[in-house]
Amino acid sequence: MVTAVRGGIIVTSTDQYNADILIEGEKIAAIGKNLSYRADAVIDATGKYVFPGGVDGHTHFKAPFMGTVTTGFETTVGAIIGGTTTVIDFVPQSEGAGLVDSIIRHREESAEGKSVVDFGLHATVMDSRNSIFEEAPNLIKEGVPTLKVFMAYKGTPAYSSDETIFRLLRKAKDIGMLVMVHAEHADIIEVLRKQMMTEGKTEPKYHAMSRPPVAEAEATFRATMLAKAAEAPIFVVHVSCYDSMLRLRGARMEGISAFGETCPHYLILGVENLSRPDFEGAKYVCSPPLREAWNQEKLWEAVRNGWIQVVGSDHCGFNFKGQKELGRDDFTKIPNGCPGVENRLGLLYTYGVMAGRLSLGKMVDVFATTPAKIYGMYPQKGGLVVGGDADIVIFDPDWTGVISVKTSHQGLDFNPFEGLTQKGRVEKVLLRGTLSVDAASFVGNPGQGRFIKREPYGLAYAVSYAK
Ligand SMILES: [Zn+2]
Repeated sequence: MVTAVRGGIIVTSTDQYNADILIEGEKIAAIGKNLSYRADAVIDATGKYVFPGGVDGHTHFKAPFMGTVTTGFETTVGAIIGGTTTVIDFVPQSEGAGLVDSIIRHREESAEGKSVVDFGLHATVMDSRNSIFEEAPNLIKEGVPTLKVFMAYKGTPAYSSDETIFRLLRKAKDIGMLVMVHAEHADIIEVLRKQMMTEGKTEPKYHAMSRPPVAEAEATFRATMLAKAAEAPIFVVHVSCYDSMLRLRGARMEGISAFGETCPHYLILGVENLSRPDFEGAKYVCSPPLREAWNQEKLWEAVRNGWIQVVGSDHCGFNFKGQKELGRDDFTKIPNGCPGVENRLGLLYTYGVMAGRLSLGKMVDVFATTPAKIYGMYPQKGGLVVGGDADIVIFDPDWTGVISVKTSHQGLDFNPFEGLTQKGRVEKVLLRGTLSVDAASFVGNPGQGRFIKREPYGLAYAVSYAK
């Protein structure tokens, strides 16, 4: 099967030009002008942008929270309609199980045959027993060169001590693994949470008040210092605020190989949403929490300047009814996380590019290319590269609409970006050369997504750090 994408404006992280793309089977075979070919199918992209398929390195499909669970990989239809062709899903270590066993189980039972986008998996330490250090090399063999630890959640098995993180960082450096951290100071949060509950402050807004920016900033700083001590790279997930970003930027200025991610909800939504009436604030409960609105412009600036390198969705598919509602009388029981895997590109284009905050190339970079490089899957994923997978987004810049749960495909009963204007939208998507979205509707095959084995020594290892 030979497919040609003709006449579009190709946008990569570094270039913008008019050219045709020739696809043979699952791969990009050629990019150029006036290519001579005999194609089985021709896709006319005249007047449209042609982007690499998005890489969302932060999703939680089939993820448990206090007895309830997020929606499964079937709902990746939302991802592909939103222009994301690869997700990397966090696999919580099952209680009493090893990291590798948890990965294999999640892959076989939850993802394979269900995901409509290609997928990688991150290990997540939820039970920091000694065996995690011995297991790390086997994760690499399984194509999982990334591992997340929680600095928050003290008193639960998910919590990792500084000792654990430091030892992991040293181990990771030996094998090219990237340690990712959820950076929030566990003790500050525990003390404040208990105080709120004692004082009867149970509404959603107190979730945010119990997790102040300083708790995130302190842990971000500490994580980068542990990385410095271990002479290893580190990746801080979901940087939510200016204070935390400053620590990440400071570490980079010091020569530490510190990378970070923010998410559309931190760029666009403010903490005032947690005070919505009728318990609707619960829809906006995530950790770290949404922040005061002034942080948003600071985060855009950080993305624009490369101080934050990745925008991931941190997609958590919890419904309002029956799930978010579980915390009606106690904010600590509200399932944490916001959906957004479908809206990442539309939001970055509308509130980044069209608002003059990001160039098109920078948008592609944080949406697809740099995540693929950091997570060890470039150039197979994340670029428009001859020999790479033909994951291609054809984007109509002239469309205007409004984000609503009524037109969402995430399989949920709400959308936190409800009512926001969106400019431009994904018109067509090819996954490894197969047309999977056409006229903004899913036309691919159920379960077409494939597990992507990733390589160690990603981009974070290409940066030298201070000795
Ligand atoms: Zn997350």
